[in-house]
Amino acid sequence: MFDQLVASLTVAAPRKSREIRAGDVFTRLTATAEVMKDSYGTRLRFCVCSCGNDGWFRESQLRAENSKSCGCYRRDRAIEMLVKAREAASKNVVRGVDGKFRRQDN
Ligand SMILES: [Zn+2]
Repeated sequence: MFDQLVASLTVAAPRKSREIRAGDVFTRLTATAEVMKDSYGTRLRFCVCSCGNDGWFRESQLRAENSKSCGCYRRDRAIEMLVKAREAASKNVVRGVDGKFRRQDN
């Protein structure tokens, strides 16, 4: 009886440390079969990013979805925000006679 209860609890318990397999996708990163440990004993997984970059990522960070890309995701977001900021700023800017952009006073 007790054994059955333990067995049912074990099955129902969430799998906390899911094993990462080659081919698993974490947003832009795709895990390969290559694994190593760093000097702290942390498991690192070699991943290929959808942009073409690759590198070693901590498996715990991949599982927690803290590692989404090689860094290009954050870079793309930064560029996107910069473009939007420029567009917003350009609405209040006129080109001066010397060819330089000047903020319009109104
Ligand atoms: Zn990338």
